Amino acid sequence: PQPSPQAGAAVKAADRAHVFHSWSAQELIDPLAVAGAEGSYFWDYEGRRYLDFSSGLVYTNIGYQHPKVVAAIQEQAARLTTFAPAFAVEARSEAARLIAERTPGDLDKIFFTNGGADAVEHALRVARLHTGRPKVLAAYRSYHGGTQQAVNVTGDPRRWASDSGTAGVVHFWAPFLYRSRFYAETEEQECARALEHLETTIAFEGPGTIAAIILETVPGTAGIMMPPAGYLAGVREICDKYGIVFVLDEVMAGFGRTGTWFAADLYGVVPDLMTFAKGVNSGYVPLGGVAISAAIAATFAERPYPGGLTYSGHPLACAAAVATINVMAEEGVVEHAARLGGEVLEPALRELAERHRSVGEVRGTGMFWALELVRNRETREPLVPYNATGQAAAPMSAFAASAKAHGLWPFVNMNRTHVVPPCNVSEAELKEGLAALDTALSVADEYTE
Ligand code: PLP
Repeated sequence: PQPSPQAGAAVKAADRAHVFHSWSAQELIDPLAVAGAEGSYFWDYEGRRYLDFSSGLVYTNIGYQHPKVVAAIQEQAARLTTFAPAFAVEARSEAARLIAERTPGDLDKIFFTNGGADAVEHALRVARLHTGRPKVLAAYRSYHGGTQQAVNVTGDPRRWASDSGTAGVVHFWAPFLYRSRFYAETEEQECARALEHLETTIAFEGPGTIAAIILETVPGTAGIMMPPAGYLAGVREICDKYGIVFVLDEVMAGFGRTGTWFAADLYGVVPDLMTFAKGVNSGYVPLGGVAISAAIAATFAERPYPGGLTYSGHPLACAAAVATINVMAEEGVVEHAARLGGEVLEPALRELAERHRSVGEVRGTGMFWALELVRNRETREPLVPYNATGQAAAPMSAFAASAKAHGLWPFVNMNRTHVVPPCNVSEAELKEGLAALDTALSVADEYTE
């Protein structure tokens, strides 16, 4: 049907009657009815168009409705829509080959999942079986997914309600100079002290009890904190010293977001296991996975891996991954994200930060940027308190409302807005979004001291 306010009202009414939404108080939400999307934009039934600076949930790395990926999904649907995971299927084989070709080091075996959280679940199970050890170390200021184990390694408030199952998870502080837990004044100090803190945590937990350390290569939802030079290499060394499996979660940072195929490429670090999802096929069909090193794959050479999923390597999702990866390679999407990020987005965001007193820090790379909004630049007091809701979150709600009123759909988490448009966003679109961001930041400025 043609988009019309009436059609939108019907979509909304059925949603309100029957859809139970993620992470929400069901009666306190007002979901926008979306009529369509293309490239970097989506629109509602009233004819309002939004430039999507959130890439959905940071996953439409090639934008919405890329014709080549849509066609590949249609072709796969016509040929072989689904097939059970125990068989060798062309789309699955080819997706695994293309992914393994790009993952760092010898991460050449791919276990497919339905999304990011179950990739984390399986990575940690693999690590525990490989080492025979029970515990996992994970960072505060992290997000690893909404299922039981994944949310328990998560270091943000979304864990709290499900904390009953934390047995075997220990949290530590990863580096974040702007809000240093280590009284550091330089990135070098922050890096050295964070590594010392990690190694001391391991010593007191018992190195022989720890199966894995899991980190987002660049923490995403928690704030896009680029790890200082040497940190991830230092964690790699610590893992090697104690026989701990190093898991990098690239669910959000992977597949072009950082202007490289994987964020790990920025640091030249090779983990033992790497999780991915989202950008692998721009989220057109649910897909995630774990890339597994040769040494860990060998553990399961003669011994069965005790885990699986009905839809592991679903042909439709894998065909979307093959098409997405090929489009990214053919269209130079990764290089585009790096160039536009460095030449246009970074200088523009730094210029906005100069003019807006609500911006405490700008950080990121490629198409992966965070603006840390503060009440006071000197004290760095966040614009809203940690995990604020309702009235306490008003300054961020007002910021977001202004952005939306000016045709920009922002990504907002706590006191931050993240600038995470599709990796193939055009320069003109970026500039259009930055102008709306400029206006919205003036609203945030009103809440500063
Ligand atoms: N890991 C990271 C770093 C993520 O950002 C997310 C989702 O945002 C997940 C895991 C969970 O992925 P999913 O929501 O596909 O289960």
